[in-house]
Amino acid sequence: MTTRTTEQWQAADAAHFLHPFTDFKALADKGSRIITRADNIYLWDSEGRKVLDAMSGLWCVNVGYGQRALVDAAARQMQELPFYNAFFQTATPPAIELAELLAEVTPPQFQHVFFSGSGSEGNDTVVRMVRRYWDLRGQPQRQVIISRKNAYHGSTMAGASLGGMAGMHAQGGLPIPGIVHIEQPYWWQHGRPKGLTRDEFGLVAAGWLEEKILELGADQVAAFIGEPVQGAGGVIIPPATYWPEIQRICDKYGVLVVSDEVICGFGRTGHWFGCETFGFRPDLMTFAKGVTSGYVPLGGVMVGDRVAKVLIEQGGEFAHGYTYSGHPVACAVALANIQLMQQLDLVTHVHDDVGPYLAQAYATLRDHPLVGDAESCGLMAALLLIKDKDQGTPFPEAVEIGMVCRGHCFREGLIMRAVGERMIIAPPLVITRSQIDEMMVLIRRCLDLTLADAQRQGWLA
Ligand SMILES: *Cc1c(COP(=O)(O)O)cnc(C)c1O
Repeated sequence: MTTRTTEQWQAADAAHFLHPFTDFKALADKGSRIITRADNIYLWDSEGRKVLDAMSGLWCVNVGYGQRALVDAAARQMQELPFYNAFFQTATPPAIELAELLAEVTPPQFQHVFFSGSGSEGNDTVVRMVRRYWDLRGQPQRQVIISRKNAYHGSTMAGASLGGMAGMHAQGGLPIPGIVHIEQPYWWQHGRPKGLTRDEFGLVAAGWLEEKILELGADQVAAFIGEPVQGAGGVIIPPATYWPEIQRICDKYGVLVVSDEVICGFGRTGHWFGCETFGFRPDLMTFAKGVTSGYVPLGGVMVGDRVAKVLIEQGGEFAHGYTYSGHPVACAVALANIQLMQQLDLVTHVHDDVGPYLAQAYATLRDHPLVGDAESCGLMAALLLIKDKDQGTPFPEAVEIGMVCRGHCFREGLIMRAVGERMIIAPPLVITRSQIDEMMVLIRRCLDLTLADAQRQGWLA
């Protein structure tokens, strides 16, 4: 890699690199921010500016940047055996050991894993596997998978179809057949206007699943998929009543439960997996991101006993897999990552220490004139920016209040993401209390700067 000035990087970037989820032309005009190195929870850009990364890269760098154990594991494995596949009745030690360790850290119904290269691919595997399962069970008409609006399940054809993002469905003729969506359990959108408490609303929102199952016919419904907490949708934390009721409904109609744990997995919510935080028992569990802390790409699906038994004992060949299923370098890094999490006792750190500390700090933000709501779950948190908090009046969409706030964060050295009027964070799990204090100072400063803009521009009138 060469050394270049920021302008040189930006010019070459604009000339050749089409970025994901990006308006290519707008970015080319503006120029990318070039990130050149990182350590712990901090990034540095090509101008030498230090940035507190409150998004863990993209929800993934759970153990923080610069962890030697992961780097060494990759280097060692690349020397020893950089690649071999798992197609032709072969396996490699890192893939076997990782499968074993995953069976240990996941809930007890999970004794088997199917590896992919990413979360999107993992969810493609889910669609194939769920439909295969019902074929083998002699109910091939059970094809439909129910998901939620504003869910994010990746960006492949199946992943984007499972997801509930209207903007993604509009490009490429999605969703694919056999995937339907119910409303999300977002109290602020659907519960508060009706005067429901959060817990009352959780039951109502879960009830939408039962309505959809009855409308379709239970004998048509293969599975329900959801993120324990919706991440990319804006850190939508469901009421505590929601998931147990979802589980009860799925049990009643024999519908498989799929937990997309790509963000919530590996400690993010204060347990190893989000389903443990929210009290449900999935049949399948998609993971990616935190499994390697993002150091190298890896994803997969944990396969619960109910499904694994059928696939193994009655399945014959499952005609599905990826070149990189069980990639030895990725698996070696995942092993080192999970072992490091165990050594540092990171899940307890989130559950007992920094999770509650962040929740307390966030609660104090509710006093801010722009903040309609501030909530967190483990180490993911959201702020709702609102025009009039007493009346519950939102800003007009045209104001793009989230983007205004994000602009200030960028300039002040903080990565916080805007999803509409929700400002969200998911910092590395290794963050300390004093680093949370430091982050809160930055967040408050950015809120104040956003408020000053709003006053100056007359947006509050
Ligand atoms: C990021 C994400 C995915 C997709 O993972 P990729 O590795 O980007 O394909 C799927 N589900 C959830 C919940 C995610 O956050």
